[in-house]
Amino acid sequence: MRSPHRPLDRRSGLVLNTQDLGRRAGAMKVVQASVGAPADLGIAVIGVLPGSAVELDLRLESVVEGVLVSGTATVVVAGECVRCLTEISDELEIDVQELFVHPDSEVSDDEASRLEGDLVDLEPLLRDAVVIELPFQPLCRDDCAGLCQECGANLNDEPDHSHDLTTDPRWASLRGFEGDGGSDYDVHDSTDQSQTNRE
Ligand SMILES: [Zn+2]
Ligand SMILES: [Zn+2]
Repeated sequence: MRSPHRPLDRRSGLVLNTQDLGRRAGAMKVVQASVGAPADLGIAVIGVLPGSAVELDLRLESVVEGVLVSGTATVVVAGECVRCLTEISDELEIDVQELFVHPDSEVSDDEASRLEGDLVDLEPLLRDAVVIELPFQPLCRDDCAGLCQECGANLNDEPDHSHDLTTDPRWASLRGFEGDGGSDYDVHDSTDQSQTNRE
């Protein structure tokens, strides 16, 4: 799934320089930084907003084969509840643990992440990790009641919402027109009017 030959964007905050670690196994440095999120970090219905903060809290450790990166990346994901369309956002802490092998290292695994010169690119592994964590059907809450199929009212806000008045024969005859030629006739508005008229 990863595309290791993607050109590396040196300006990206997710590209870290390991030059000062040298190749001395055991050398270690801590990276704590807030960097801008790249585009397309997520799936269609929910994801990380491009440019929003990615909080990195990482350890970079020089090991014999390369550089071991471990720690967390915290992002804020935003999207829409698939049932009621309410905007939702959530903080996601992603555990990062990845060995970036030296470019000249003889590693049999073609899938291994590699250092490019002294640079490690966190974006591919962050992308994979975020997508795995995201719900395919995001909900504002597990028992979201969704929207009224008649009028689109949010049933979480109006648990007693119903359209009993539409069984009134006067409205039933009007409802007949609804399916006729695709009129935009709105049942809910008319119901409100009937209540007003009676008062
Ligand atoms: Zn919802
Ligand atoms: Zn309704």
